[in-house]
Amino acid sequence: MKKHFDYFNEGDEIFKLSGFDYPERKISSGNKRICIICGNVLPADISTSCSSCGGPVPDLATLKGVIEGKIVIPDGLK
Ligand SMILES: [Zn+2]
Repeated sequence: MKKHFDYFNEGDEIFKLSGFDYPERKISSGNKRICIICGNVLPADISTSCSSCGGPVPDLATLKGVIEGKIVIPDGLK
């Protein structure tokens, strides 16, 4: 999708959580976030849930905790 070409920059380090369709940047830059559930691009400052699918948009620290196994995703989101 074109919006993803606008969101990701060449050289961005990204990660992808298993069970989710869309990757996210490892290091946040700019003022946007991506919904890893539906891929919607959201304003980072106001978004705690996705305006498109209603899914939660956790902050990067939380996502990194999930990747490192410190935080477990509730079954309802898998
Ligand atoms: Zn979404």
